[in-house]
Amino acid sequence: MIDDSRTYELDRAHVFHSWSAQGALKPMVVTKAEGSTLWDDEGNSYLDFSSQLVFTNIGHQHPKVVKAIQDQAATLCTIAPGTANAARSEAARLITSHAPDGLEKVFFTNGGADAVEHAIRMARLHTGRIKVLSTYRSYHGGTALAVNVTGDPRRWPNDYGSAGTVHFFGPFLYRSQFHATTEAEECERALAHLEQVIALEGAQSIAAIILESIPGTAGIMVPPPGYLQGVRELCDRHGIVYIADEVMAGFGRSGRWFGFEHGDVTPDLITFAKGVNSGYVPLGGVIINEPTAATFDERVYPGGLTYSGHPLACAAAVATIKTMEEEGIVENAARLGREVLGPGLEKIAAGHSSVGEVRGTGVFWAIELVKDQATREPLAAYGGSSPAMNATLAACKAAGLIPFANYNRIHVVPPLTISDDDARRGLEIIDAALDTADQG
Ligand code: PMP
Repeated sequence: MIDDSRTYELDRAHVFHSWSAQGALKPMVVTKAEGSTLWDDEGNSYLDFSSQLVFTNIGHQHPKVVKAIQDQAATLCTIAPGTANAARSEAARLITSHAPDGLEKVFFTNGGADAVEHAIRMARLHTGRIKVLSTYRSYHGGTALAVNVTGDPRRWPNDYGSAGTVHFFGPFLYRSQFHATTEAEECERALAHLEQVIALEGAQSIAAIILESIPGTAGIMVPPPGYLQGVRELCDRHGIVYIADEVMAGFGRSGRWFGFEHGDVTPDLITFAKGVNSGYVPLGGVIINEPTAATFDERVYPGGLTYSGHPLACAAAVATIKTMEEEGIVENAARLGREVLGPGLEKIAAGHSSVGEVRGTGVFWAIELVKDQATREPLAAYGGSSPAMNATLAACKAAGLIPFANYNRIHVVPPLTISDDDARRGLEIIDAALDTADQG
């Protein structure tokens, strides 16, 4: 066992953390995790309403997944990607079995950002075009190209005049760019806007549109009915590759296996990571349709990663997907949304002046916090924080809940396996903490 007596001290001395100013950091020391609960080094327990970065869909330390990793480690820890191994073959079969017909191949990566990078590379090579369109309210990853197609403010200091990336507005009725007041209007106008962006950018120069089927980090905006179908139609009309980024929405989070199922469409390429094996061992990938895959039958695909299809990660994916099937975890996510989280959040919204809107599906919900319900002024600026927001999050933690927060939003994204009682207890903690937000 590793000596854990100086964990915090060694972290502060030697660990450089992501997306953070290093000086003021006080990371929580986590010593143990199980299901939807975490423990710190003082023995305090917390309800994990974040699934960490929205990835432990199956909960922490699921015994079947832990056992599968142990068994794989005892047999074959690692092997180069040019070989075949049972864990990777079976993981690819299971992943494609939940994708639409015609998407039968998987390119494995180590996570979501590299999946996005490779999906775009495939689309560019397949079409011979360069430009990629993505929405302003999106997150696609922290590597060079993935952060450029991202819309989230974390792109700002990382954007070096992004060659070929173009942003447009996706639908978001609560903060409509199109002065829409109904979902139907928002859908129609957002599609007309996209059509115009395509025309003005030059359809012949656009390789791909990459779209989170349900934008996650940017605020869990379930698209209005018809929007994804409209995007599909525009892509078909102009020979543009439709990439569905399912890194966060995929593998049951939304109450379906993939988020695009809510929109009744078939994308050309699907990026995934997180929920595929609940992040027990890093894994991501691209599910590829036949026409795109066929581009590389004769021609070399010029890209790869040393750990592509890592056996430990793939063994974890096999066990995770099988467990999700056996235990009805996706169906449970849909039920939790319908019966517990949705109604519970509506009740919370009715009781707080700081709640502008609650929205979501499955185990994928956002609480949009505002200073004023009439003006909809956010409780923290886009890309920033505020004392009221920080105090609200601190109140959650003091009451034993780890929230997922982004700017003026608290996301309700616990593991899909959370018990109804723990889900209700978490909502009660958030309800009480929102009294702080109501003070502004
Ligand atoms: N795409 C989406 C939709 C995501 O939510 C994320 C991560 N939050 C990524 C891509 C990037 O994934 P990773 O951090 O594993 O590189």
